[in-house]
Amino acid sequence: MESCLFCASQFDPKTNKPEHVLLNAFGGKVTVSNLICSDCNGRLGGEIDRPLAEGFEFLRNMFILKKGDGQSPPTIVDRSDDGRQRRLKPGLVVNSRTADPVSRYFYDKEGNRHIEIKGHENAIPSMKSKLAEEIASKEGPSKEEILASIEDIEVIQTSEQEYIEKTMSFDSGGIEGMRSLMKSAILLFARQSPATRLFAASPFMEHARKFVSDGSEEQDLWWYDHHIPPQIPQLSELFGPLFNLFVVFNHPKRGLMAYIRTYNIGAMRLQLSNKKFPRRHVPVHLVSNPIDRTWSENVDGIDDLVNWVIANGPNPPGEDKTATRHMEHMIMEANQITGSNIQINRKIV
Ligand SMILES: [Zn+2]
Repeated sequence: MESCLFCASQFDPKTNKPEHVLLNAFGGKVTVSNLICSDCNGRLGGEIDRPLAEGFEFLRNMFILKKGDGQSPPTIVDRSDDGRQRRLKPGLVVNSRTADPVSRYFYDKEGNRHIEIKGHENAIPSMKSKLAEEIASKEGPSKEEILASIEDIEVIQTSEQEYIEKTMSFDSGGIEGMRSLMKSAILLFARQSPATRLFAASPFMEHARKFVSDGSEEQDLWWYDHHIPPQIPQLSELFGPLFNLFVVFNHPKRGLMAYIRTYNIGAMRLQLSNKKFPRRHVPVHLVSNPIDRTWSENVDGIDDLVNWVIANGPNPPGEDKTATRHMEHMIMEANQITGSNIQINRKIV
């Protein structure tokens, strides 16, 4: 038996639902079965993981970033300025008529019945059937007769695609998203060795665990970084422009910390414990490339980054043009790699 890091209940890891260290929605493939119970896993999935994933759903959709298990990125239901609802398929492809299906009949002056059906080709048979049922119920002839009479109706297909212009915004899902990132950092750290597992379950990390579990004790546990270090060429080369990065390290003054970059856009620091992990190095890193779903643990070449993070305390809040420029550059690179044509025309924070 194991005990859950977040609720202390006992469970059998053999029958326990595996939990992704990095969210499945973010392309994470690494799972653990012995750190968090199925109950907490299920509850936190809806409560904190979903808001984090939704904060980046436009990005995941537009660059067609698949989930860790290979599933497609989300289709987004978007309400445009004209009030019309549109479904944005991966790649931000909108099928305007699909969102606006037509199924009706009317009579002209001569008394001829006209039928109009517009919709996605997959939906046409059921639309025909429904309309036939409606006519039959009002006008007498059987549904089958009517269906036969509209068998050869000219159907307007909706294969035509339309591209939309959209102002993007990304966020990390607020406090809930922060809790989800904290959960990932704790799981990543705890799974390294019996010693890290013990430390993760100890009172030294109680605040961090409580923050994940119920959102309490949030003060001073996390900071957004408004200044993303301008370059980590080693990582961009290996993991593309949109990499996700988790680093857990000892900060000389602040104890055990995590530094997290989401899609190389957002950056934040979390405090796992105000006590340092009693080993000289805590070499815990995870980085992933959501574009082709590769990932690696304990990568080389991030010493500079960790040093930068340690040297820079939490930043004062405020607008940061550096981050915006960085993001424009990163989107441009992602366009080149994925063949997309995403225009950034607005500041994103
Ligand atoms: Zn639990």
